[in-house]
This record gives sequence, C-alpha cells and structure tokens, in this order.
Amino acid sequence: MIRLLFWIAIIALAVWLWRSFKAPKAQPPRATGDTLPMVRCAHCGVHLPGDRALAGGANWYCSRAHLEQGPAPRDH
Ligand SMILES: [Zn+2]
Repeated sequence: MIRLLFWIAIIALAVWLWRSFKAPKAQPPRATGDTLPMVRCAHCGVHLPGDRALAGGANWYCSRAHLEQGPAPRDH
C-alpha cells in the first residue's frame, strides 16, 4: 500500500514538473495597461485611457455627449 502511494506521488510530481516546463509561455503579457492611467466615465461607467477621456469638473467622460449629459444619477 505504501508502495502504491509512493508511485502515485512520483507520477504526480512528474506531471507537475512536465506542466511547469510547458506553462511559463502561456502567461499573457501584461505590459499594456499598466502605464496608461485608466479613468471611468461618470455617465456610463465605461473605462478608457486617460488620454482619450474628456475632463468635466472632477469627473471624466468617454465622449462629448456624456460630458454634456453629466454624471449618471445612479452610481453602482
Ligand atoms: Zn460614457
């Protein structure tokens, strides 16, 4: 019985090692998005880069239409 558990552990270790060798390239690069500050439209709640947003007072808006309509009454 101990011998069986020993082999299960060896196989599990081998599978884990095999996966850890194949896995590292599967991680998606997260370079984009970290440098640009993301702001939230106060009207519709969409997130967009700060350089594309329109400032209206203390709030940010995704478009001129939402800037003119102002912040949404219900913020969730
Ligand atoms: Zn908007």
